[in-house]
Amino acid sequence: MPTPVDLSVVIPVYNEEAVLAALFGRLYPALDALGVAYEVVFVNDGSRDRSATLLADQFHRRPDVTRVVMFNGNFGQHRAILAGFEHARGERIVTLDADLQNPPEDIHLLLEQMDAGHDYVGSIRRRRDDVLWRRVASRAMNRIRERTTRIKMTDQGCMMRAYSRRIVDTINQCNELYTFIPALAWQFAQNPTEVVVGHEERFAGESKYSLYSLVRLNFDLMTGFTVMPLQLFSLVGMLVSLGSGALVVVLGVRRLVIGPEEGGLFTLFAIAFLLIGIALFGIGLLGEYIGRIYQEVRQRPRYVISAILERRDEP
Ligand code: UDP
Ligand code: MG
Repeated sequence: MPTPVDLSVVIPVYNEEAVLAALFGRLYPALDALGVAYEVVFVNDGSRDRSATLLADQFHRRPDVTRVVMFNGNFGQHRAILAGFEHARGERIVTLDADLQNPPEDIHLLLEQMDAGHDYVGSIRRRRDDVLWRRVASRAMNRIRERTTRIKMTDQGCMMRAYSRRIVDTINQCNELYTFIPALAWQFAQNPTEVVVGHEERFAGESKYSLYSLVRLNFDLMTGFTVMPLQLFSLVGMLVSLGSGALVVVLGVRRLVIGPEEGGLFTLFAIAFLLIGIALFGIGLLGEYIGRIYQEVRQRPRYVISAILERRDEP
């Protein structure tokens, strides 16, 4: 019989050799201080630096409470967390980034809310410490998500969150390849809440997200959780075709009444470019959804695990 675990902390790790020692130094004392049976599940997302070795060393130092899942390639933060969920045994699961942007000492704040009966505890970054463009972009994406999906989250970008076993079990049944875990979990929550947690600059190393991968992630959030962009687009298409229909009528009448006219070439260009722009946007939008369908129907495995470091439970 495996020993019951109260708390699993799932941490995705990708090229984090610069922060891991500091993370171990703060995380384990913070968890020891909680006085619950815990485990830390690290998922090494195909790091190309010394992260895997450092994780293995930590496993040998604290094998009683440490498990390491090794991917054989880089599959992305959210898939790493999904793998962590599949291997977590705790009654409550907390996700945390490796970079110490959220203090591990704040985990007890999340657990207190769970004690109060919430099954999903989101987080809001107190005084966010990131570069300006990230803060502006993140605020804009929060607002767009708020308008287009039914998901209510003050701060979608903060990954330090707590989930009940039931939510994680439900997520484990989902087979989506590209997803956004806080949003997925929120949909399954019965009694969600949020707390304010600390936020600091990255302890060391650099962000693994380029502008492009952030845009991709936000597309996953949009296309994975709502079809409202498609509906909005067909609405716009309807209005535009009404407008251009009216234009045809006006021009036709003028042709009959006034006779052939010239001039207005650039007005015509402006109108044509506007319509072409809208059409191209629509094709791109359709492509996003079709691409998503294509990826899902191929049903490739989400990730490939090369090794798992864990202590075998004594009989
Ligand atoms: N991460 C990962 N795989 C990736 C990118 C990131 O496992 O492909 C991990 C990374 O090691 C960190 C967390 O996801 O623990 C968040 O990444 P990061 O701090 O770079 O994101 P940011 O805070 O800049 O949004
Ligand atoms: Mg970070």
